[in-house]
Amino acid sequence: MHAYAVQDASGLLKMDAMENPYRLPAALQAQLGQRLGAVELNRYPGSRLDALRQALARHAQMPEGFGLMLGNGSDELISLLAMACDRPGATILAPVPGFVMYAMSAQLQGLNFVGVPLTADFELDEAAMLAAIEQHQPAIVFLAYPNNPTANLWDDTVVERIVAAAPGLVVMDEAYQPFASRSYIDRVARHGHVLLMRTLSKFGLAGVRLGYMMGPSALMAEIDKVRPPYNVSVLNAECALFALEHAEVFDAQAADLRAQRDALLPALRALGLKVWNSDANMVLVRVPGEAQAVFEGMKARGVLVKNVSKMHPLLANCLRLTVGSADDNAQMLRALQQSL
Ligand code: PMP
Repeated sequence: MHAYAVQDASGLLKMDAMENPYRLPAALQAQLGQRLGAVELNRYPGSRLDALRQALARHAQMPEGFGLMLGNGSDELISLLAMACDRPGATILAPVPGFVMYAMSAQLQGLNFVGVPLTADFELDEAAMLAAIEQHQPAIVFLAYPNNPTANLWDDTVVERIVAAAPGLVVMDEAYQPFASRSYIDRVARHGHVLLMRTLSKFGLAGVRLGYMMGPSALMAEIDKVRPPYNVSVLNAECALFALEHAEVFDAQAADLRAQRDALLPALRALGLKVWNSDANMVLVRVPGEAQAVFEGMKARGVLVKNVSKMHPLLANCLRLTVGSADDNAQMLRALQQSL
């Protein structure tokens, strides 16, 4: 296997990892500096994590009777889920192409991974999903909602049939929720086996590393048994608490990015590319010819995007573009046009 590759972005406009392009306003950044300056670094993380769990539960409108678990990014929670469900022959199932960490965590933990191909237009293949669930009886089904790298939400009727058929856990991964037109949060409490996972990474805090997962309390207490006791640092927690106190700043950034995305889609289509709709802060495009050549051309013009064309046959000739500010997007469009 290969280690998760982080591309070298030095000197490049970074449009490869769905980061929020906007920083905290300077006054808030200074206030945060003061807050961090007062943190007791000599103590293990303690009550501030309880405060953070409560603040996140309020922020996400967590249902009654649910518990919330913190992770060092949702990447860690995905690994912990694989660990919690590890027993001989256990399987993790997810649609593909999808987020690579589901397969990687399964592989690292020694679980089977079953990837069920999406349809050619990147919808869930209901019959194939239900047949694979029946055959493999997965311990976990991951559904990224919206999906990465295809940026779409799933048909909710199909999701409900998958949830009804799943014999183990279903994890709705809402990493891109700040940009999505729907969330599963209102439906999650109807079931006893569905967990909802989110992250502050796409909200504007990718550097902080803070993911969280919610589900029925008794179930969360079981999963919590595999969590290392101090997996989230006091610095991560203080940054996250501060951000939630100023959620309106991040909400406004997300609203701006949704508007930038909605302007970017027709501009990309005007270049004659195949462009898929997006419920996230990324856009998947298919370029004519070799994606690698276009990727290199854009890089030579100072813009780093993600070439996903080799990830899965369904993604042939596809690039994944992160949505940035109006200026970033204009620079990305110019570089793309000149590289085609
Ligand atoms: N889930 C999905 C669908 C993602 O695309 C990503 C990041 N690219 C993550 C989870 C992980 O996010 P983080 O570890 O930054 O919370």
